[in-house]
Amino acid sequence: MTSEPIGTVEGIAAALADAESIGVVGHVYPDGDALGSMIALTLAARAAGKHAVASFEDPFVVPDEMAYLDTSTLVPQADFPEGLDLAVAVDFSVPSRAGSLREPMQAASSLAVVDHHLSDGDWGDVVLVDASASATTELVYAVIRELGWEITPEVATALYTGIVTDTGRFQYSNTTSQTHEITAELLALGVNPDAIGQKLFEELPFGYFTLLTRVLGRAVLDEDHEFVWTVVLPEDLDASGLEYHETDGLIDFVRLPKESDVACLLKVRHDGSVKGSLRSRGRVNVAAIAGSFGGGGHHNAAGFTTTDPVETIVESVVAQLP
Ligand code: 5GP
Ligand code: MN
Repeated sequence: MTSEPIGTVEGIAAALADAESIGVVGHVYPDGDALGSMIALTLAARAAGKHAVASFEDPFVVPDEMAYLDTSTLVPQADFPEGLDLAVAVDFSVPSRAGSLREPMQAASSLAVVDHHLSDGDWGDVVLVDASASATTELVYAVIRELGWEITPEVATALYTGIVTDTGRFQYSNTTSQTHEITAELLALGVNPDAIGQKLFEELPFGYFTLLTRVLGRAVLDEDHEFVWTVVLPEDLDASGLEYHETDGLIDFVRLPKESDVACLLKVRHDGSVKGSLRSRGRVNVAAIAGSFGGGGHHNAAGFTTTDPVETIVESVVAQLP
């Protein structure tokens, strides 16, 4: 693992310029940065005369709060084209995160990776992995600029969505002066932060209160390890009338107790597998802990999926805390 940038903006730009047909893929259960990167790159590529689509593993769902995005270039995994000139992975750099799209991606003539997660960068023919970027859309912005492609208000909105979600509204340690400089450009190009902010951060279904009551009601604080954790069970979703993908923001409540340094949310799926989200206030590198379960991420925000039982996961996380 390295935090030094791998590859260059120019290298990715050249690969995109050379390709006629481009397929962009985001990680499973794409977040604002993955969706924003897929959408911005494909909209801009189409406007530049390329054949471009974006896709991600089923379920083919764009979260309600991101319904303002232009999704016209998104196709379900079954429609991801074969025999592409170039496949581009955005917001991930390990093949497993492509899920079922891994094979069609690797069947393309060339494979590019654009990402800002801690990575050893050994996947892809052309790579741009820069962990100092607040969001993958910062890197996509630089690539589109390098190519001289047009940034329409729809492209700008997609790029902004990646930045505002991955920086926790310009608050996390990944927020830099460059983040704000790019954002200033995007606002000048037509982004409406008020409308986007309300959709992303200030609208929840009423059933979310049921979910919060149940999940936060069973939270555990381990004061010795300054560790807080809780679980989402399938019946919590049934009781609150919510879908699995609507629980993405829950970890932001779990991490709030000031007594905690590290927070963990474990979401138990119907098939018994468990998706873990880890957050750190900065002292502990949770990407390393996620890595011990086969996952990854950033120093302060990481995730994993495992079939281990909840008790085993918690014991193992605690054993890795200072
Ligand atoms: P979240 O907890 O919000 O799902 O993810 C936090 C961060 O860790 C995100 O940057 C996400 O891309 C990354 N992440 C989440 N799950 C996994 C995983 O299973 N593998 C890897 N490599 N990264 C993950
Ligand atoms: Mn990201």
